[in-house]
Amino acid sequence: MIVKDQALDAVMLRNDFPVLSRSRNIPALVYLDSAATTLKPQCVIDAIVRYYSEYGGSVHRGIYQIAERATEEYENARKQIARFIGAKTTESVIFTKGTTESINLVAYAWARHILKPGDEILLTEMEHHSNIVPWQMVAKTTGAHIRYLPLNDDGTLNLEDAHRYFTPQTKLAAVIHQSNVLGTVNPVERIVKMAHDAGALALVDGAQRVPHHSVDVTELGADFYVFSGHKMLGPTGVGVLYGNLEVLDKMEPFHGGGDMIRTVSMLESTWNTLPYKFEAGTPPIAQVIGLGTAVEYLSNIGLDKITAYEEQLTTYALKALRTIPGIEIYGEAPHRGAVISFNAGNVHPHDLSQLLDRDGIAVRAGHHCAQPIMTRLGISATTRASFYLYNTLEEIDLLVESIRKAIDFMGG
Ligand code: PLP
Repeated sequence: MIVKDQALDAVMLRNDFPVLSRSRNIPALVYLDSAATTLKPQCVIDAIVRYYSEYGGSVHRGIYQIAERATEEYENARKQIARFIGAKTTESVIFTKGTTESINLVAYAWARHILKPGDEILLTEMEHHSNIVPWQMVAKTTGAHIRYLPLNDDGTLNLEDAHRYFTPQTKLAAVIHQSNVLGTVNPVERIVKMAHDAGALALVDGAQRVPHHSVDVTELGADFYVFSGHKMLGPTGVGVLYGNLEVLDKMEPFHGGGDMIRTVSMLESTWNTLPYKFEAGTPPIAQVIGLGTAVEYLSNIGLDKITAYEEQLTTYALKALRTIPGIEIYGEAPHRGAVISFNAGNVHPHDLSQLLDRDGIAVRAGHHCAQPIMTRLGISATTRASFYLYNTLEEIDLLVESIRKAIDFMGG
């Protein structure tokens, strides 16, 4: 276990992650795809196994011991997560399947009821598909328009003329906090303020930010803040929608079913209080409990330490990658996270990724669910290396060496 006032020791920390066990992988796994999903520490796996093997009852309804324990652990995880993101109350923390479902919840339960023809939804050119497609679907059914804040060549947002994008028609600005392709960290505080000044709501996609940097949703003041458990050492199948209580209160439910109701008659139903109004059916109990443990693990290490360590990894990786002849790195934002997208010589990202895999190196290749960025950059794909607290400088050296080998193999 990590003690807070020691520096982050990735080599020691790696022992907490069974997937990294050397004997399991030959060659040893160099996992550089944490922006897609992170590896899980043993304590998270244990928490899930403990739920299933010791007290696997359902939550909220059972009046017997294992159900009561399940409810306690589930609601305790909500408290841990609320504290982790600086939410004032647990009522504003809604469990979903992940970032994608959280955004769809807002699209269905808020936007589809509120937006009218001519209203505007403001996105950016660097959104993940999950923060584009739901809004396109909303636009189709409501007659609202989508506008995009443009990208500068360095991968930052062009906010010079931003005031032109916020009009009386703007009803929602939905922006990514940290890009999953370029690493850019956006000035979301400024964008939230501009949205509010224009009378619009603001949604921030924190899928790539919450795992790596402390976030205070109360200070930020966005109406909605969304993220996924599996990108922050938690299990798949669970994520969070944090919402402004006043806005959530006025919203219609998303899914109908058990647990989200107060009363049901043959003709109509009334809704449960927050957050349960938005948690229909049996929730992902083991996953929520696992996410609570992940948050505890991250908090014990300290987000500040994680951020500082990742900055060290990223600076080192950028410098090392730039020594490779013919490499092109996309995104040079001064304020960036631990994600680097690049193309290496004439080697297609899919070929490169396969060749790196021979050396045990796992990177991502493709459009990274952000095709508008690819269009803006005039490319179809990149290779992406992303880092987390278990990566080491030695792994970056291995990546660089393996890319050089791949370029030679493919004849430059
Ligand atoms: N937003 C960003 C910035 C992402 O990187 C991702 C996943 O890669 C998502 C949203 C979607 O997350 P999920 O697939 O967990 O719903």
